Amino acid sequence: MPFSPSDLEDIRRQVAAFANERDWEQFHSVRNLLFAVMSELGEAAEIVRWSGDREPAVPEDKRQAWADELADVFILLVRLADRSGVDLSAAFAAKLAKAAKKYPVDQFKGSNRKYDEA
Ligand SMILES: [Mg+2]
Repeated sequence: MPFSPSDLEDIRRQVAAFANERDWEQFHSVRNLLFAVMSELGEAAEIVRWSGDREPAVPEDKRQAWADELADVFILLVRLADRSGVDLSAAFAAKLAKAAKKYPVDQFKGSNRKYDEA
């Protein structure tokens, strides 16, 4: 599904402003934010935990709740990167480039094996 056009630095600024307006810097330690990300992932997992191999895994009546939980994870991940000094756009680009080297298309197309497996 295509995303609406957006800019990650703009998103980072919006998330930081939201927290700053509420004086939440004091609560946004790296540790607290990491646990918050994991908690929100758990909330997302709760929605699909009994779906097994059923497709779509997210029932129609849970689509909004699913989107909300993914947004919670994303917002907190952006905040976590910001508070821990990670340029998430740069980290993404670097990691995708590393993954492309580890998993060349001609060797891994259609394969789910790990890069160091024969
Ligand atoms: Mg949530």
